[in-house]
Amino acid sequence: MLEELKKQVYEANMLLPRYGLVTFTWGNVSAIDREKGLFCIKPSGVDYEKLTPEDMVVMDLDGNKVEGKYKPSSDTPTHLELYKAFDDIGGIVHTHSSYATSWAQAGRSIPCYGTTHADYIYGEVPCVRCLNKEEIDSAYETNTGLLIIDEFRKSGRDVMAVPCVLCKNHGPFAWGKNAGDAVHNAVVLEEVAKMAYRAETINPQIQPAPQELQDKHYYRKHGANAYYGQ
Ligand SMILES: [Zn+2]
Repeated sequence: MLEELKKQVYEANMLLPRYGLVTFTWGNVSAIDREKGLFCIKPSGVDYEKLTPEDMVVMDLDGNKVEGKYKPSSDTPTHLELYKAFDDIGGIVHTHSSYATSWAQAGRSIPCYGTTHADYIYGEVPCVRCLNKEEIDSAYETNTGLLIIDEFRKSGRDVMAVPCVLCKNHGPFAWGKNAGDAVHNAVVLEEVAKMAYRAETINPQIQPAPQELQDKHYYRKHGANAYYGQ
């Protein structure tokens, strides 16, 4: 079942250690088949060296395991909520990549300090609040997803224009059109987080890049009037 999607999700998961985004078994990638309403996700706690495409777990959007010998990633309910809320999301990545997680632990959104950030992410990378005791004690992973959804709906942010988020005291989630695109955005986020940290270290009085420069860089790559690339 969904052999091609499993392969894509497997390959995307294997990119996480290759890009230095995960340590041990931390991190997970999933991708969805919208027509079938099923998504594939990495199994929980299996070493990356031992993973195979067949190990990917198939889930439905009610949270039932449809196929797979392993338990799905413990973060599966977060992925599930994001898929249900946002039709444009085709793949999701969660890591504890070092720089993005440092911003998350500090409880800070990442301001847009330059064009590398603006090329991929429109405006700051938001950091959502920490869950309260009740939210942590009951359905922690589901509530993490609901909090992210609430943040995007409240702020009017478009999930495809801001393809990542930080969860306070935890770490980043990134997403995209598919699994590969989601990993790409997770790599961009880590690089942007690193550069923003360094920029603030070099100049503690730094201000975000001018809005017109952010707009120029974002909209030359995205939307109706994009002209970047071939
Ligand atoms: Zn995590």
